[in-house]
Amino acid sequence: MNLIDPPVLADIASRRGVATGGVATATLDTLNRPLRDLRLSVIDQCNFRCTYCMPRETFGADYRFLPSAERLSFEQILKLAKAFALLGVEKIRITGGEPLLRRGLESLIEQLAKLTTGSGKPMELALTTNGSLLAAKARSLRDAGLGRVTVSLDAVDDAIFRRMSDVDMPVSRILDGIEAARAVGLAPLKVNTVIERGVNDSQILPLVRMFKGTGVVVRFIEYMDVGGADGWSNTKVITARETRSIVESAFPLTPVVVHEHTGTAVNYRHADGSGEVGFIASVSQPFCGSCSRARVSADGQLYTCLFATRGTDLRPWLNEAASVEQLAAAVRSQWVQRDDRYSELRSTPRKPASGKAYPTVRMSLVGG
Ligand code: SAM
Ligand code: SF4
Ligand code: SF4
Repeated sequence: MNLIDPPVLADIASRRGVATGGVATATLDTLNRPLRDLRLSVIDQCNFRCTYCMPRETFGADYRFLPSAERLSFEQILKLAKAFALLGVEKIRITGGEPLLRRGLESLIEQLAKLTTGSGKPMELALTTNGSLLAAKARSLRDAGLGRVTVSLDAVDDAIFRRMSDVDMPVSRILDGIEAARAVGLAPLKVNTVIERGVNDSQILPLVRMFKGTGVVVRFIEYMDVGGADGWSNTKVITARETRSIVESAFPLTPVVVHEHTGTAVNYRHADGSGEVGFIASVSQPFCGSCSRARVSADGQLYTCLFATRGTDLRPWLNEAASVEQLAAAVRSQWVQRDDRYSELRSTPRKPASGKAYPTVRMSLVGG
């Protein structure tokens, strides 16, 4: 089914911030950034307590996660995906919390995998996971129609992995998950690593060594001051430039030429041709100028920036009385007002008149 029918397209095209060319549409924000990517969080719970995301002191036994009745149903998530497709989204990433904890996720993936974009191409469907349940689920995810997987892994050393994810689980379980994903053809496979100074910087070279020549691309992410990163400080950030020089001390790299840079990572190729390594300079060289991502939390709040202090409740348009087009119009009305570029303005404190800082949304609620 093509999701865009001509009257809807005409309606969408008639409004500010929307450009059309053929059947493809782009919904533009105030800085001319199109809405292209959607991150859908399907659950706010996680079986890990990564110290930079869900520190146990904050996310302890008495922490109140969303009751399951407050999570969007699969029908509501599918409706959201259709509305975003109308607005020009070409890629959906399922995230969390830990998305593989959401029961029956494969049936949602099966439905999302059937969607087409505004220009009639298949919707790109990806998933970000901590990998703990991937060995068991890789095949069913692939069979359901999932395209790609990104696995978050911060160390290959067992003790460092356990310390950073604060979980009683061997790192071999994540490595088995990565291998299972590779074996069933969930490719290209990426491994995302957050580097925290003095905690896992010793793991930069072992991670590169482990995945060199396997087709898996390791991408190093700068430690960000997102909601949940309670212990963040500037001194704990190792910049992408510094990480790259550590990699290059053992593995010569050459830059990968990109003609249209809309991604977050800058990739380098091993000089001997045995694969790529990526660097995500989210703190030191922000990429707000090309940020085309919207995020919807597991309880249906739309966030137009990872550092947003509040979202827009989409639930009024997620009941049966509202159409997909009405939902799309509600999303569009937010996107066309969007002027977020927090990482570019990081030095500017976000404080209301009271002087107390606004809390940013938790990373585990909106997904990375
Ligand atoms: N649980 C899944 C996982 O870990 O892949 C999906 C959700 S997790 C919030 C998504 C991504 O956010 C992970 O790759 C994680 O490393 C990243 N992340 C969380 N907190 C971060 C922080 N303070 N700085 C940089 N990346 C962070
Ligand atoms: Fe869980 Fe992912 Fe956050 Fe780690 S980064 S605590 S795995 S949601
Ligand atoms: Fe996008 Fe906000 Fe991150 Fe900038 S700070 S890249 S606008 S999510």
